[in-house]
Amino acid sequence: MSQEIAICWFRQDLRISDNPALLAAAEHDQLLPIYVLDDDSADEVAMGGASRWWLHHSLQSLNSDLIGTLQFFRGDASVILRELCQRHNVTHVYWNRCYEPWRIDRDREIKTELLEQGIHAESFNASLLQEPWAITKTDGSPYKVFTPYYRRFMVQSHAAPKATPRFMPSLLEDSHSCSLSDLELLPSINWAEGFKPHWQPGEKWAHKRWRSFLDERLNNYQQGRDFPAKQSVSGLSPHLHFGEISPRQLLQDLQYVGGSDTDNDNREHFIRELAWREFSYYLLYHWPDLPGKNLRPEFDYFPWQHDETLLRQWQRGMTGYPLVDAGMRELWQTGFMHNRVRMITASFLVKNLRQDWRSGAAWFWDCLLDADLASNSASWQWVAGCGTDAAPYFRIFNPVTQSEKFDPGGDYIRQYVPELAALPNRYLHRPWEAPDDLLAQAGITLGKDYPHPMIDLAESRAAALDAFAAIKTVEPTVAVNQAAQKVSAL
Ligand code: FAD
Repeated sequence: MSQEIAICWFRQDLRISDNPALLAAAEHDQLLPIYVLDDDSADEVAMGGASRWWLHHSLQSLNSDLIGTLQFFRGDASVILRELCQRHNVTHVYWNRCYEPWRIDRDREIKTELLEQGIHAESFNASLLQEPWAITKTDGSPYKVFTPYYRRFMVQSHAAPKATPRFMPSLLEDSHSCSLSDLELLPSINWAEGFKPHWQPGEKWAHKRWRSFLDERLNNYQQGRDFPAKQSVSGLSPHLHFGEISPRQLLQDLQYVGGSDTDNDNREHFIRELAWREFSYYLLYHWPDLPGKNLRPEFDYFPWQHDETLLRQWQRGMTGYPLVDAGMRELWQTGFMHNRVRMITASFLVKNLRQDWRSGAAWFWDCLLDADLASNSASWQWVAGCGTDAAPYFRIFNPVTQSEKFDPGGDYIRQYVPELAALPNRYLHRPWEAPDDLLAQAGITLGKDYPHPMIDLAESRAAALDAFAAIKTVEPTVAVNQAAQKVSAL
């Protein structure tokens, strides 16, 4: 009898447990596990630098779990799969679904071609609790607003994690594969050194982080999650993005948490955040233009300033607003930024500096280890006010009062803006108000050791509100010109 040879095509599911594609592939006589770096098909949304660092280490970890048999390729996935199927007489190809628009189009073509060749091609859901098409309004149309979406999400039943394959069939290798280092995922400059003390990519570490969150931090999640110095959040986002742990696993484990009212509140709040992740994918699936196009069309006429100098000051964490600078430096140094601070830094860029949200999203895309087309795009549109369910444009975070509220002891600022560390809390959030002798005692000359505020908060707020008012009355011809200046998507 002829042998059945299966390919398991790993993508954003870099794990062995609860991996339905691997489970299916492991049922056959021989298994060829592959990873394809397909930058050409991704084009403008090819992975950013920080994500590549993560991917390298995550693939290394998966390869070691597969006893060194993961086969690496670089190029057009459809061509590579076609050639592999021919070379090895492959009978089955399995993968887990991704929802980025470019991947949906490409995967659909690949599936059609494989099926036409008589090869069994099958995809599964491994990264979402609910498929984006599984939740609709009663008239069949997609939700635009989170709260009613969430209500439906909560009443749907959620699948349990799948089993881990008990036995692996014999694992095949391919002579045309390249090495992991040939994928050239690591940055040539030593920028990523700062990631190492904070992160360990790979399935084993994802589970370790999750366990430590359940044991030590979930009990303070609801209260603590807004305080960047408290480290009450899970830090799971890069692990989830690369599929090193599945949301089904998280949901199942959460069923066994505590039982007190506080436990329930913490658990529910955490599930709500997972639902925001799901909702981001939902929006991307139903509005595939999400990464580059304002979902509220009136924002096509917004007079963004497109000022490279302002953008650069923000990127470098040199705005003169300590919490904004701490966030931007955390991002650069660790590949991560706390959620509350993401909202504040993003609001500062799009509202106080009136820079196009797409230029901020592009910077995050390059610097975040958890850079995720769905969550990044949906969150930026949310902050900018141009998304389907967005913070109103007129709600402008004040980075000083936010700082006093969410980093009252200044620990977060002192960690990432050490030049201000010696200032007392009273002035740490607003160093420009500190008396000269105090600044001198703290060893700070404003404008030399730390910048003066780059803009006035009240004036920039008023200018942002004026600009917002103007987009409702702009002439269509003017609008066309302004729309043409848009920063290209990511
Ligand atoms: P926790 O609080 O522990 O939450 C658990 C999980 O829920 C997270 O790992 C994440 O998967 C999900 N989650 C939590 N909050 C959100 C949210 N608001 N939207 C979507 N999912 C959420 N998240 C990304 O994963 N990738 C991004 O590229 C990304 N870009 C963002 C850009 C901006 C401007 C903003 C405001 C938010 C962005 N987020 C992004 C959402 C959020 O900031 C991160 O998911 C969160 O900070 C990750 O930290 P955590 O794992 O400790 O979260």
